[in-house]
Amino acid sequence: MTRRRSSYRSLASLQRDNRVCRACVEAGYPLESLPIVQPYEGQRAYMFGQAPGVQEGEERRPWRGRAGRTLRRWLDLDEDEFYATFYCASVTRCYPGKAASGRGDRTPAPREQELCAFWRDWEWRLLRPRLVVPVGGLAARRLLGLKSVSECVGRRFEHDGAVAIPLPHPSGASGWLNDPANRARVVEAAALIREELRAVGREEEGR
Ligand code: SF4
Repeated sequence: MTRRRSSYRSLASLQRDNRVCRACVEAGYPLESLPIVQPYEGQRAYMFGQAPGVQEGEERRPWRGRAGRTLRRWLDLDEDEFYATFYCASVTRCYPGKAASGRGDRTPAPREQELCAFWRDWEWRLLRPRLVVPVGGLAARRLLGLKSVSECVGRRFEHDGAVAIPLPHPSGASGWLNDPANRARVVEAAALIREELRAVGREEEGR
């Protein structure tokens, strides 16, 4: 049974409830995994994707499949560095299953996105990240109100006290990455993210 408190004072108690959330199943949506909730270990930045895939659902860890490997290659981070740097969340946190067409995974319905925003909003309040990286069009829309990745990759935004630097979804399913000019924008975005991570690191050392 899903439990949502009116207020959370610690990330640990928020995560405890998030890990057993079944709100979308209770609302009639067919989910194929339990929520993927990454342990918080003082990560400096917040990564915000669309939804876990089948492998993430099985391992109950974010960015485990091919898309995760591509993301790490773009950012020039090995696995340990990646998970130590980014607290990874997503618009919805359970594997939504395959799309009816059989091509790719099902996009979470607007109602599922709304139900899951509860967890993101509380995470945001408790973590107050300095850097956020929305990954893919849906994440950029939900977090920054942007229409598409085309208008934002390679740019830096301000969002609620954080710097936001979007990336396209690394699965390449949309075909956006087939254009060499767009791939060059990914290189620019990754350079901005690394620069911002260094700035956050310097701030932390100065405290
Ligand atoms: S997608 Fe989010 S709101 Fe829906 S059941 Fe999973 S954790 Fe809960």
